[in-house]
Amino acid sequence: MTLYDISAKLLGEEHYLLPERTQETLENTLFTAIAHFIDNHQRKLHELIAIAVTLTSLVDPVLGIIYYMPHISINNWALVDNLQQRFNVTSFVGHDIRSMALAKHYFGDTCDCEDSILVRLHRDTGAGIIVNGKVFLGNNGNVGEIGHIQIDLLGERCHCGNFGCLETVAASAAIEHRVCQLLTHAYPSKLKLDDCNINAI
Ligand SMILES: [Zn+2]
Repeated sequence: MTLYDISAKLLGEEHYLLPERTQETLENTLFTAIAHFIDNHQRKLHELIAIAVTLTSLVDPVLGIIYYMPHISINNWALVDNLQQRFNVTSFVGHDIRSMALAKHYFGDTCDCEDSILVRLHRDTGAGIIVNGKVFLGNNGNVGEIGHIQIDLLGERCHCGNFGCLETVAASAAIEHRVCQLLTHAYPSKLKLDDCNINAI
C-alpha cells in the first residue's frame, strides 16, 4: 500500500498480507489494512483525495465492479461503491497491468507518447495498451490478456482451464520451474526438483 501526492511523489509505503480466500473476508481484510495505513500516515495526510485499488482481475473500471479473479470466487464485487461507503473518498479500481501502463503514461517512461504498450511478466503475463492517452479496453474490457493466448497445444494446464497458455511458460513461477528443471538436469547429484530453491542457488 502506497501513499502518493498528486505529482506521484512517494510519501509512504507499507506491505500487508491479504491471504483471504473469499470475497467477503478479502474485502474485510483489505479495508482493515487501508484504515490502518491511513491511521499510520495521518501526519502526512493533509487531504486524502482518492483511493485506488489495482488487482489481477476482470474488472470494469467505469462501473467499479470486479467480475473475475484467478484464485478467488467473485460475484459482481462492487468494490468502488463499498470503498466509497466505508471511507467517504472518491475511489477507483483497475486491472493491475493496465493501471501500470496508465501510470507510466502519466508519470513514467511513456509520458511523451500518446500510444504505448506495456508488457509485464510477473505472477501473471499481460499487457496494457494506451491509445490516444487513454487505456484501450475494447468491447469486453479485457484487451491485453496476452497471457492466455495458447502457444502450446500439449502444454501445462493454466488456471483459466485451457492448456499451454503463454502464462504457463512466461510468468515468474513458470520461469522458476523451468530453471529448476534445467539445473536439476545439469546437476542431478546435487539437486532434486522438489527441493530446488532459486533463492538459495
Ligand atoms: Zn490461460
